[in-house]
Amino acid sequence: MLGAMMKQNLLISDLIEHAGKYHADTAIISRETAGDLNTTNWADVAASARKLSSALENLGLEQGDRVATLAWNNHRHLKIWFAVSGGGMVCHTLNPRLFPEQFIFICNDAADKAIFFDKTFMPLITGAREHLRTIKHFIYMGGHDAEVAAALPGVVFFDDLILGGSDDYTWPDLDEDTPCSLCYTSGTTGNPKGALYTNRSTMLHTFAISLPDCLNLSSQETILPVVPMFHANAWGIPYAAAMTGAKLVMPGPGLDGDSLVGLIDEQQVTLALGVPTIWMMLLASAEKSGSKLETLRRNVIGGSAAAPSMIAAFREKYGCETIHAWGMTETSPVGTANQIKGKHLHLEDDAMVNLRLGQGRPPFGIDLRIVDETGKPLPHDGKTEGALQCRGHWVVDTYFGNESSSLTKDGWFDTGDVSTIDADGYMVIRDRTKDIIKSGGEWISSVDLEGIAVSHPGVAMAAAIGAKHPKWDERPIIIAVKADGAEPTEDEIIAMFADKVAKWQIPDAVVFTDAIPLNGTGKMLKNKLREKFGDTLVKRMT
Ligand code: AMP
Repeated sequence: MLGAMMKQNLLISDLIEHAGKYHADTAIISRETAGDLNTTNWADVAASARKLSSALENLGLEQGDRVATLAWNNHRHLKIWFAVSGGGMVCHTLNPRLFPEQFIFICNDAADKAIFFDKTFMPLITGAREHLRTIKHFIYMGGHDAEVAAALPGVVFFDDLILGGSDDYTWPDLDEDTPCSLCYTSGTTGNPKGALYTNRSTMLHTFAISLPDCLNLSSQETILPVVPMFHANAWGIPYAAAMTGAKLVMPGPGLDGDSLVGLIDEQQVTLALGVPTIWMMLLASAEKSGSKLETLRRNVIGGSAAAPSMIAAFREKYGCETIHAWGMTETSPVGTANQIKGKHLHLEDDAMVNLRLGQGRPPFGIDLRIVDETGKPLPHDGKTEGALQCRGHWVVDTYFGNESSSLTKDGWFDTGDVSTIDADGYMVIRDRTKDIIKSGGEWISSVDLEGIAVSHPGVAMAAAIGAKHPKWDERPIIIAVKADGAEPTEDEIIAMFADKVAKWQIPDAVVFTDAIPLNGTGKMLKNKLREKFGDTLVKRMT
């Protein structure tokens, strides 16, 4: 033998042991479901996770079993994550915003054996209980509660359960390819599909997102993951916070703008992460309350495209730098993040702003390409648009319960997005393949049109869809929700596009509506909008 380095499995249990040992007194703050604030630290999360893992073993749960959570971002949820994955079980985060039928489908499909739930979701649990075929243990995330005990005979209480666990429990030494968590796609069409992450894929993702050129995390940060732990594992933040020893501020059910502004100011949050709809509410609340969001140096926006006007508002009004990021449930989820390179440090303001609008470039561990309809790779010239494909250490291969791989013959995952990539790897999402507007054979990016429409101060939210057209097949129209108290007109909004897009890309109509339907992770349900408004132009012609 020439020599050897230690070989240790990459395990989630090591993450929480590291945080508990080297960042013991770093605070974890949580908004409880009842509204009060709980303060604990990494030492307690580590000790509780060990104890809970042994308690789950006492309940009869075994390695490989799926243990579901229906919960907000809070300290109990954090302890469950590490207890379940550290013990070799699979933590299955469920999205409470799904329709009950989808929720039932997912629980049964995953064959969950136990479910932890917050009080908020009692009605969902009691309503669905008789359809949940595989769940043996219902575990309420709190102390003993007579009302809950009466409504759910046999229910177990988290705080009692953990007391029965052992302080001497040691984590099993697992193979690093052991599955650790399971997350289903939000299923805008068809039934959701499960992405099953492993200890190894999660650990490599955690290293990568913590790097300066990705989300740039450290023990100096106070991080507010607004993105729920049930939305692609809160983009990996709970793991990365344990790795880097960051302070965490968990918002619980308080996801409205006022609650978030309050938490940011009180807890001196330096970095917050969430989808565009959250930021829209937060900006409105900060404006109303006069908060300067003084400590918030950076925010991460992902899940849907961040409108240029939103990024500008954070930069100009609050001195907050937006890191625009792209990813999918299938990519654990981070695929790209927008950080500049050394050669961009001295860019003129306009060029810098423009560079920061896109979704950024992949960290090491993710490779990207764009291809045409025949699967032929297209140039990375920043102009050519193609179907975005990726591969890497934390990208799905085979969905949960499926026999066959979901990859292309040459091993790439087709994202369903259309994008450009430039020579430096900066990727810009142009659209979802199914949402791009095809006018007379030419493609129009709905993302671009939406970004322009929402820059009108009277527009709170906007979707661009292709409406049927007898000559052009499809023409773009805007479906807009008016901002509170504003009365924008169709002509005013159409006029916004005049010098920003080619003439043939200017929408043919603006339709106002009360609300745009969103899916469980805050994305606009454009298929519903096409069903409702797809005939707008045809009707206007008759
Ligand atoms: P999900 O798996 O529910 O997180 O959805 C993944 C999809 O969200 C991607 O395939 C994109 O279409 C979309 N998405 C995520 N991040 C962004 C972003 N920053 N800009 C535009 N679309 C995004």
